Amino acid sequence: MSYYDRANNAFMKAYGRFDVTFDYGKGVYLYDKDGKRYLDFYSGIGVNSFGYDYKPYVDAMTDQLHRLMHISNYFNSVEAIEAAEAVIKATKLNQVFFTNSGTEATEGALKLARKYYYEKHGKADSEIISLKHSFHGRSTGSVTLTGTPAYQTAFGPLIEGVKYADINDLESVKKLITPRTAAIILEPVQGEGGVHVCSQAFMNGIRQICDEYDIVMILDEVQCGMGRTGTIMTYFQYGILPDVVCLAKGIGAGFPIGAFVANKKVGDALKPGDHGSTYGGNPMAGCACKTVFKIIDEQKMLKHVQDISEYLIDKLDEIVEKYDWIKERRGLGLMIGLEFTHPVKPYIQKALDKGLVLITAGTNVIRMLPPFIIEEKDVDEMIKILTEVIEEVNN
Ligand SMILES: *Cc1c(COP(=O)(O)O)cnc(C)c1O
Repeated sequence: MSYYDRANNAFMKAYGRFDVTFDYGKGVYLYDKDGKRYLDFYSGIGVNSFGYDYKPYVDAMTDQLHRLMHISNYFNSVEAIEAAEAVIKATKLNQVFFTNSGTEATEGALKLARKYYYEKHGKADSEIISLKHSFHGRSTGSVTLTGTPAYQTAFGPLIEGVKYADINDLESVKKLITPRTAAIILEPVQGEGGVHVCSQAFMNGIRQICDEYDIVMILDEVQCGMGRTGTIMTYFQYGILPDVVCLAKGIGAGFPIGAFVANKKVGDALKPGDHGSTYGGNPMAGCACKTVFKIIDEQKMLKHVQDISEYLIDKLDEIVEKYDWIKERRGLGLMIGLEFTHPVKPYIQKALDKGLVLITAGTNVIRMLPPFIIEEKDVDEMIKILTEVIEEVNN
């Protein structure tokens, strides 16, 4: 039986998987079990910021694996402390809670905002405002925040009190505000929803509303954070600070870790016993996280992301110009979407056949989340394959 058939037999059918079984990776390339090479513009959904077998990361993790893996959160490890300090420095916020994934980060942020409201009002009747076409995870609370009915309908009843506004439409947010509004949650750049970027005016407006009514402003930077858009947090490009930020994906660069990070005012609402996680921020995860910050810093990754992004965007805009069936290019840094006038699934499959890994974001958008370490030659190779794919699909 093929690996594909074995996978289909063994796993629940929750994913539509491609017929590719990867064996190992090196740099920006993945290799499948037949030895075929793939250029990776996907990074396991924006996780593998440093590509594969990146020596400083592998060395640090190997060393940690020998020393200490897990101790629970009732004790301290140097790795978790140093990771938390690095997160605080990078986010300009004050307190960290480590999780194992993005959905746990948004779930935790939701609980934190509700607790903050509860301490203020003495009632557990808060409301949350989220955005349509957002994505915040798949557990029951976070899937309620996810403003995409396709992910929700079959899994009700959802949590109470969540309302959805439109991105870049401040009036649609204002209409939903009530004395019970505890938090507004949004992604600076919507990932799964199609790579839609929040406007400066929208972000300013949300900050202002949250200040005015003491509403907790939560930014979900699980996908766009950790350097992917060219600054360590995307919100620095807007010149604002959220009250809470959610992180995952790139914060571990391949090892499962997430975090929700708060300023002191909001973070202090959590008291001993209020929240927990057996694994969250264990020494392995702490090591991954602190090593990620160290590498981004020492290797001047942010500058590289900015530079290579400019090159990538120029090349992509030439393609957008050339083909009528591409509507536009969106995104920031190395988080880019190409919106077509029609479904892009055939492009993704054909690219894979030709050794290029891409993903979709919604039906009509090709999404690119390459590792930070890509060079101009990798962009050139991607553009060459993508151009062939576009020509072939449309002939
Ligand atoms: C991926 C993602 C999540 C969920 O993260 P998981 O680790 O899959 O639970 C939440 N929010 C955003 C913006 C994401 O991109």
